[in-house]
Amino acid sequence: MSNPIKNIGVLTSGGDAPGMNAAVRAVVRSAAYHSIKCVGIYQGYQGLIDDKVKVMNARSVNNIINKGGTILKSARCLEFRTKEGRQAAYKTIEKHQIDALVVIGGDGSFTGAMIFQEEFKLPVIGIPGTIDNDIFGTSHTIGYDTALNTVIEAIDKIRDTAISHNRLFFVEVMGRDAGHIALNAGIGAGAEEVLIPEENLGLERLLDSLKRSEKSGKSSSIVVVAEGDKTGRNVFEIAEYVEKNMPYYDVRVSVLGHMQRGGSPSCFDRVLASRMGVYAIESLLEGKSNVMIGVKNEQMILSPLEKAIKGKSEINRDLIRVSDILTV
Ligand code: ADP
Repeated sequence: MSNPIKNIGVLTSGGDAPGMNAAVRAVVRSAAYHSIKCVGIYQGYQGLIDDKVKVMNARSVNNIINKGGTILKSARCLEFRTKEGRQAAYKTIEKHQIDALVVIGGDGSFTGAMIFQEEFKLPVIGIPGTIDNDIFGTSHTIGYDTALNTVIEAIDKIRDTAISHNRLFFVEVMGRDAGHIALNAGIGAGAEEVLIPEENLGLERLLDSLKRSEKSGKSSSIVVVAEGDKTGRNVFEIAEYVEKNMPYYDVRVSVLGHMQRGGSPSCFDRVLASRMGVYAIESLLEGKSNVMIGVKNEQMILSPLEKAIKGKSEINRDLIRVSDILTV
């Protein structure tokens, strides 16, 4: 039987992440390797609705493996959440005779892909690209490793000024629902405490810990706070509370913000994205659909999109223990 997939569309959607370009490159080049046509869709689902489609060949993705962001651009598209929007998107699929779609994004993008697949029976494959690492079915998402490296580099710099002035720094990192970045970067940067969404360590415990370390001779400290930490206060309120109770410390807040999304992807993310892109095309050619590519114990795996969306990616609780021990 001849292969029914002759033309594959690829898009990046939702929050951008370093390594998305490496994934686009891998998808486009693998399609070329298998002599399949490939089109890039610009601005995620919005580009599908607005017919922003460009034919891509192996040379269209030269010199992008090292670039942050996404050359295909990304977007949050409200229209795609409506049946009418998805119908308009499907018109573009028909116009360009796209036989399958590779969606590089987070769980929101996968929800859209799953609904689209159900409505129009178009084969779809998800590649997890998000710095938060909050997707079930993969130990690592594309962009997470780069973001961790960016965060520890920033905290290392903050440490220099903290030491010079006997300061206590509260550093807010991304992670509204997941503490992966905070916990790993906290350990990697040698933070005194880490506040994460998964566990309420309590402000009193934080104060006790900071007082203990001050007594033990520490003159400066760094506390890493995930955006969505469970204390119910934002990073400025936490800092204010601690400053009131520990007046001898010069307390400062640093919100790292969007710089965590940018930058050249790490080697780990480039390799991961390359493997995932290749595996996405191979899986489509084997007739797989409605699944997400993941990595587990170094091996590529597939999970149903529904599981990837509904499942919860758990933090490694042993890291909390390690963090506690090392701040003695
Ligand atoms: P991420 O993919 O990073 O989680 P979003 O949650 O913003 O980012 O989702 C990206 C896009 O996916 C949205 O802008 C929207 O176009 C599409 N999407 C998300 N949820 C749905 C849904 N329930 N139905 C249809 N499309 C959706």
